[in-house]
Amino acid sequence: MIGQHDSVGGAHFAFTDRWGGVSAVPYEELNLGGAVGDDPGSVTTNRRLAAESLGLDPGRVVWMNQVHGRDVAVVDGPWAPGENVPAVDGVVTARRGLALAVLTADCTPVLLADPVAGVVGAAHAGRPGMVAGVVPAAVKAMIDLGADPSRITARTGPAVCGRCYEVPVAMRDEVAAVVPEAHAETSWGTPAVDVTAGVHAQLDALGVRDRRSSEVCTLESRDHYSYRRDRTTGRLAGYVWLDG
Ligand SMILES: [Zn+2]
Repeated sequence: MIGQHDSVGGAHFAFTDRWGGVSAVPYEELNLGGAVGDDPGSVTTNRRLAAESLGLDPGRVVWMNQVHGRDVAVVDGPWAPGENVPAVDGVVTARRGLALAVLTADCTPVLLADPVAGVVGAAHAGRPGMVAGVVPAAVKAMIDLGADPSRITARTGPAVCGRCYEVPVAMRDEVAAVVPEAHAETSWGTPAVDVTAGVHAQLDALGVRDRRSSEVCTLESRDHYSYRRDRTTGRLAGYVWLDG
């Protein structure tokens, strides 16, 4: 259910694993993604189960319509039923008690919080989003709401690791030209990209020093969803919120 959960100064950071939900094969069990072909009723039930296990009201969780871009939305409540959810890969809020969620299966989920300012953010950083700068854009949006990078705590969750994320050499070169720290090599000696390392370098450059990353590689862990490994599969979620 909840693979990792920690709190700093009233800010909470949680990441799910794939177990404890009601979805059937191949989405078993706790698929939280609504756009991967799973039964919508199962996803709704799973979102409720995950929220309840975190002490959250499932109706007070903001989900994104993620598109591998760099746009960030400022929100102060969940989308209304039937509302056209904007295509963004980052979301920030200054509303205490409102949870922000990010969906992934190999991409790097990024959770951010400045508990003093009362501002939190979540971002979806795959390779394209990391290169496009969605994480710096989310930090910038938090600063606009009063956050200070020196007070921001950052958590990155389960993601495909740099030893597993093989890419063509030209792609690695393109990524490294923008974010050199993402340059990597697979455990079998071919070109790779380390998105999580790139994200942490971007955060460090902005002055976000209180950072931690998950030890989990989604592609190597059968307890987590991996798009690269399974193609048709579910989505994990990361949640960030402040005590209400
Ligand atoms: Zn790995």
